[in-house]
Amino acid sequence: MRVLITGITGMAGSHLAEYIQAEHPQVAVYGTFRWRSRMENLEPLRRAGRVDLVEGRYSDGQALRDEAKRGRVTLLYCELTDAGAVEHLVAAVQPDRIFHLAAQSFVQESFDEPASTFHINVQSQINLMEAIRRHGTQTRMHVAGSSEEYGLVHPDEVPMKETNPLRPLSPYAVSKVAQDKLAWQYFKSYGLHLVVTRGFNHTGPRRGHVFFDSTFAKQIAEIEAGLLPPVVKHGDLTTKRDLSDVRDIVRAYWLALESAEPGESYNVGSGRTHTIGEMLDILLSFAQVKIRKEEDPARLRPSDVPILWADPSKFRAATGWEPRIPFEKTLRDVLDYWRERVRAEGGQQARAGV
Ligand code: NDP
Repeated sequence: MRVLITGITGMAGSHLAEYIQAEHPQVAVYGTFRWRSRMENLEPLRRAGRVDLVEGRYSDGQALRDEAKRGRVTLLYCELTDAGAVEHLVAAVQPDRIFHLAAQSFVQESFDEPASTFHINVQSQINLMEAIRRHGTQTRMHVAGSSEEYGLVHPDEVPMKETNPLRPLSPYAVSKVAQDKLAWQYFKSYGLHLVVTRGFNHTGPRRGHVFFDSTFAKQIAEIEAGLLPPVVKHGDLTTKRDLSDVRDIVRAYWLALESAEPGESYNVGSGRTHTIGEMLDILLSFAQVKIRKEEDPARLRPSDVPILWADPSKFRAATGWEPRIPFEKTLRDVLDYWRERVRAEGGQQARAGV
């Protein structure tokens, strides 16, 4: 089987590649990257000698699809908003499965860059679906939707079911609604096998520093290293989130294409919530030094979603998926990831004489 992961250099994409390598070693994995991509998320696979990098144009599709690619990850350059590049990619790889994870994934940035967020998230998916139409309707594609699609939720509307109204509160969320609806439309109009997961928040090692749990963990790691005064800056601590471990979530993505129904959208989340303040307190309980909290108005969003709480029963019934990783372990692993990065970056700066 050939599997294509868009956004393989991101947090979820890199974990999905590792999951497939570990659990489905007969699969050949292909992933997209760009010149600006942060390749360090693929370092564990690289160190294991599992990654082949194909730069520039890949003219020999047959060589690309060679049996020897089983158990390996092949990285292919592709800007997904470029329809021609996506056409070429899909024709060359002829994937049996596509996990479409690539996105401008940061809610806050979408307020600053609404047009490019919409362009990246919507155009990329259209390009992929059009390429599938032309090159193989047998391809199954997963679309990474988001709980942000629900947006404004009234107190009597939680936990959120797939039938909840979609009232998106950010340009990012509107783009995810568009992705979700486009998947349904292409399923109905052309019979493509498309499954959408509405992923609730997930985190783990490699989470970008702009996301709430990671920004706390990074600050704590920098404070422990003596790089910052002992104060963690935060935004609204009262919002509630249903936070899972990314390693559980990528297993859900795999199952989505194995056993979920095409043309359907599924909540993927833990089914329990914590306030951001509770998560910060858990992280602070792991800190090696005493740290106080301080609100930073710059970290308050224009219209934050007050609660995101999944009812994941539809997905569980379809796939049997259950989260396995304890919540505290996830947060501890995020902090350890940032401790390691701060140590490594400090070492690099010291060697460079900065
Ligand atoms: P990341 O931001 O870590 O990764 C995004 C990936 O998309 C990167 O590899 C990025 O590459 C790639 N990408 C972005 N734009 C393009 C483009 N134009 N062409 C090619 N590649 C591009 O996101 P996550 O791994 O956290 O999330 C994966 C998916 O899950 C996203 O669709 C996100 O919206 C969704 N999601 C995430 C949630 C979460 O809590 N993490 C919750 C719900 C949904 P580059 O480095 O080159 O920019």
